[in-house]
Amino acid sequence: MNATETMQIEVKKTKRSRLPDVDWKKLGFGNFFSDHMFITEFSGGQWKNSRIVPYGKFEISPTLSALHYGQSIFEGMKAYKYSNGEVYMFRPLDNLKRMNVSAERMAMATVPEELFMEGLLQLVRLDSNWVPKEEGRSLYIRPLLFATEEHIGVKISDTYDLIIMTSPVETYYSQPLKVLVETKYTRAVPGGVGFAKTAGNYGRSHYPTRLAQQKGYNQLIWTDGYEHKYLEESGTMNVMCVINDTLVTPGLHDTILAGITRDSVIITAKDLGFKVEERKISVDELVDSHKKETLQEIFGVGTAATIAPISLFGYNGNDYNLPPITDNNVGGKIKKQLDDIRKGRAADRHGWMYKV
Ligand SMILES: *Cc1c(COP(=O)(O)O)cnc(C)c1O
Repeated sequence: MNATETMQIEVKKTKRSRLPDVDWKKLGFGNFFSDHMFITEFSGGQWKNSRIVPYGKFEISPTLSALHYGQSIFEGMKAYKYSNGEVYMFRPLDNLKRMNVSAERMAMATVPEELFMEGLLQLVRLDSNWVPKEEGRSLYIRPLLFATEEHIGVKISDTYDLIIMTSPVETYYSQPLKVLVETKYTRAVPGGVGFAKTAGNYGRSHYPTRLAQQKGYNQLIWTDGYEHKYLEESGTMNVMCVINDTLVTPGLHDTILAGITRDSVIITAKDLGFKVEERKISVDELVDSHKKETLQEIFGVGTAATIAPISLFGYNGNDYNLPPITDNNVGGKIKKQLDDIRKGRAADRHGWMYKV
């Protein structure tokens, strides 16, 4: 099989579009899925059977190795519709790169760029009328790669499926979040898989998150696994603070997921003339700067929400309220600039928008 044969994508279109069934008032996040999905299979060392089919259920074996042994990773990115009707994806090649970093770490097959981009482009083009045009809405794109070997002994799977599905969404977390600084449970440890977007990282975070929610918080701020002293991430987002007008965020290492939003926010902040520091932030520094009133903002950054403002953090039995969120906040200004780039209203200086 040569490269062009591997790239052949068979398309089976749906008989009836489900677009009229979408309840746009209850759009939310991840509730509705577009008409089609892209599937490709890895076996015998090659990707094959690439196809676009109507979105729907499929059969799996009870021995599917992803379910037992956790070789399962995903990605998340968005497509936007400009006012002239053109559709653009935001930094899809960076998501592919990161998916392959996750795949390497989980000993899974990596996905060639030509195959991924061809499948993705054809899929989003076919379902382009699912890409919402309204402000605050977009098409969320979810690639999922998982082990498909049907074998109950523990081993590295020799076969994988990649599925790309898409979902029209509205911006996640519209209310400011109350977060609890987690000082017992750990999301990721050095040498572990914190930098990979792998299923188990989410499964393991649910229990401590639920405990925080029972105490009235929305999310956790994860701290390092050794001393629980330094900030790592906020829920499933990267975390950023504004202290003394400087945007401060933990530097990247293997316990932190290298968010594409994180990178875009840092670059946009610098473009807008803000000072940015990537360094360790201790919880003591947060409390201290809160006391001195130099702590202006804390927010989470990720594809689903872009920027999710935090209104309060809890630590050691105390709650620390943050100043109210306004359009003049550093986070708000960066979000507006990113929204303008994504909707084609501001110059795309860094080549982030990828035409569909
Ligand atoms: C996906 C994710 C992020 C954000 O990454 P983006 O590329 O910005 O969406 C941050 N932290 C964790 C743990 C994540 O899974």
